[in-house]
Amino acid sequence: MKKEICPLFSKCGACDYSCSYEDELDDKTEYVHSLFKFHCPTYETIGSEIYGYRNKVAASFGYDRSGRIISGLYIKGTHRLVEKRNCPLEFDGSGEILRSIRKLMKSYGITPYDEDRFSGDLRHVLLRRGNKTGEVLVLLILGHSKVKRLKEFARSIKQENECVVTVSFQVNDEKTSMILSSNPVKTLVGPGFIHSKLFDLDFRISPSSFFQINDSQTERLYAMAIKMAGLSKIERVLDAYSGTGTISMIASRYSKEVIGVEENSDAVDQARRSAEENGIANVRFEASDASAFLKNEARNKEKYDVAFLDPPRKGSDEKFLSSLIKVGPRKVVYISCNPETCERDIRYLEKFGNYKTVAVQPVDMFPRTRHVEAVVLLEKY
Ligand code: SAH
Repeated sequence: MKKEICPLFSKCGACDYSCSYEDELDDKTEYVHSLFKFHCPTYETIGSEIYGYRNKVAASFGYDRSGRIISGLYIKGTHRLVEKRNCPLEFDGSGEILRSIRKLMKSYGITPYDEDRFSGDLRHVLLRRGNKTGEVLVLLILGHSKVKRLKEFARSIKQENECVVTVSFQVNDEKTSMILSSNPVKTLVGPGFIHSKLFDLDFRISPSSFFQINDSQTERLYAMAIKMAGLSKIERVLDAYSGTGTISMIASRYSKEVIGVEENSDAVDQARRSAEENGIANVRFEASDASAFLKNEARNKEKYDVAFLDPPRKGSDEKFLSSLIKVGPRKVVYISCNPETCERDIRYLEKFGNYKTVAVQPVDMFPRTRHVEAVVLLEKY
């Protein structure tokens, strides 16, 4: 993104790159190469569409000096809100939805939340879109539980924006810079979720469920992971840290059976429902800490042919990795949003298991930011 495209480049803090996209990709390949050079070759980073890739948009609300309601984001570490209009990374149409919300706030007398005085109604809005379905979910984060005419406000948001399917809310009355709180999410209008698609599979996205934020790149990432696993319909597959079960369901097409393990029980419920809705019978989901589950599998002498793991940024742990070695998958496909912890974990597998790292494929899920995803293939020798 050139600076003239985004006037907020230095203020907003969301973008780390302003060079050409080719240079950004080279930089990401170089970074992954520097981490993995003693293990395996690094492929060139798979690039993404740069604009409009974010299917998840967060906005905070406030007033400008002239008393006009604005939406944007807080400059990191401050209570200063900068107005953001039409961020080129965010999905097309998100700016219009936010504009209509600002206008409706005025007509309904709903005030922006003031972070200094801890007063006001609307703190943040979170939008999520299923890119292939075009359905949008609006989550209103409120500063207190007594906002007047909330249901009518929500109804009007839906009426004014054809793509909006669900409007939900959550109260966050804590003194925090976090957007979400641990309070329950309640539905105001619509079914409480939207539909999204990856390949030809349907997934439900509810306000609190994890879903990758760049749909087309997620398909490329998962296609690469499946290709590396070399499945041939006869394998027993483990999908650790399975979230809403996306990788499990895609892998189920190419293997005999898949067992997904995930500690978030809501995500597991959703995964089970999606599997049923997609008519997939050869997957099973366990709601458990992945390490505890796998340790138990190892104790019971269970075996797996292939393992996918897609842990959070902090990576996996020794309990999981030592059990993984015992259940003995021929191939391990490690998908990572933090190549540094991934490199640490594969070092463990190389040292204590008979694994060699074959290759690492960086995939750019978040253009313009410094984050890069990596898929690593390990094989038993
Ligand atoms: N594979 C999924 C989700 C990856 S995100 C996808 O691509 O959509 C990482 C997931 O790991 C999250 O869903 C998180 O809830 C889960 N997780 C974190 N720590 C865990 C643990 N110790 N055991 C099992 N799951 C865990």
